[in-house]
Amino acid sequence: MNAHNKPNAPVLDSYWMPFTANRQFKAAPRLLAAAEGMHYTSVDGRTVLDGTAGLWCVNAGHGRRQIAAAVERQLSTMDFAPSFQMGHPIAFDFAERLAEIAPGPAGAKLDRVFFTGSGSESVDTALKMALAYQRSIGQGTRTRLIGRERGYHGVGFGGISVGGIVNNRRVFPQLPGSDHLRHTHDPAKNAFVKGQPEHGAELADDLERLVALHGAETIAACIVEPVAGSTGVLIPPKGYLERLRAICDKHGILLIFDEVITGFGRLGAAFATDYFGVTPDIVTTAKGLTNGAIPMGAVFASRKVHDALMHGPEGQIELFHGYTYSGHPAACAAGIATLDIYRDEGLMTRAAEIEGDWHEAMHSMKGLPHVIDIRTIGLIAGIELQSRDGAPGARAYDVFVDCFERGLLIRVTGDIIAFSPPLIAEKQHFGEIVSILADALKRVK
Ligand code: PMP
Repeated sequence: MNAHNKPNAPVLDSYWMPFTANRQFKAAPRLLAAAEGMHYTSVDGRTVLDGTAGLWCVNAGHGRRQIAAAVERQLSTMDFAPSFQMGHPIAFDFAERLAEIAPGPAGAKLDRVFFTGSGSESVDTALKMALAYQRSIGQGTRTRLIGRERGYHGVGFGGISVGGIVNNRRVFPQLPGSDHLRHTHDPAKNAFVKGQPEHGAELADDLERLVALHGAETIAACIVEPVAGSTGVLIPPKGYLERLRAICDKHGILLIFDEVITGFGRLGAAFATDYFGVTPDIVTTAKGLTNGAIPMGAVFASRKVHDALMHGPEGQIELFHGYTYSGHPAACAAGIATLDIYRDEGLMTRAAEIEGDWHEAMHSMKGLPHVIDIRTIGLIAGIELQSRDGAPGARAYDVFVDCFERGLLIRVTGDIIAFSPPLIAEKQHFGEIVSILADALKRVK
């Protein structure tokens, strides 16, 4: 099968696409060929405004030459070096740079950094760290991992076990003992709110319920996304994260924030940890770590967690875990260049400067056909549509296809449209997003 039936278009048969309805896609492919700044160019030469920073990752915008040059330089100096029992300076340099901006308050930053190859690997790494930590402090009965309904933590077996998306779970076995808090989405009380909703902090008490049910001595860690992204931008109610932190402290449970989306400036602070002023024990990241240019993830651990695993006999491996590509030299080069851009262009805090315009633009769509909720925080938005009778997700999917044809890339999950534009976005881009989306909403059945 040949995309667009044009002579130079790629054959589509062999590539089994991830999280994609392959047969539907291959019958009507959407193919991107180039990217620069805020825009993609499709294979048929159309300009498409990137409303989603790729997949929530291209925070500094596309085509950053500084990153390409750093990767090129590193690959031609040393392409690869073994990551176990051997090191290379650039991985240490990158970790030191990350430690400077690590999540958490001065003096208590989570400044011990473990490199992975993706968000899913970061999550599984964090869960394993938590289990190893508990064992190392004599709490080996703590093997249970708690996640949350509508959480997305990637696709490893750890991630789907604590994740709360039924389609990711129903075909696959999960880690024994994993359990879930309820999600915090309550449109009946919190519709059309800018920023954090007022109602729902008490949902954190679900963790107390699970402690009462299972016994604290069986629970190792609780993992949540500070703002759930992939399941439709669910923003924590005021006081919720604080309450979760307090319950974890009370019962010796580690708190993990999955910041794969919220890390690196998405909310207007380097991390959601800093934005909300609630410090977990472990933070997972990926995506914006390298501006999406090279696959990489990083897990930030507190000194408490790190140091507890450093007390065994000299020469013993402290955490039996790692990846061939942990700290890959080219990824580290991309990451350092990315941090330089974020710093030099003030991108970690730019969302805070432009979020007023962003919120206003997004909430201007209240009253358009099918719109039943709009949620915004930092440079993220979720616009929830009424489902078409008997076909959940179909209406938002039609809007997605229409927007793409008219030059706007959005993301849909169920009947929720999610936005996370690159942090270099200007007010005029917000206007374009609103105009294309509003037209699509007026047209869709
Ligand atoms: N955690 C969160 C919060 C995510 O949003 C994602 C990806 N959208 C992941 C984990 C998984 O990351 P990856 O796709 O890089 O494995």
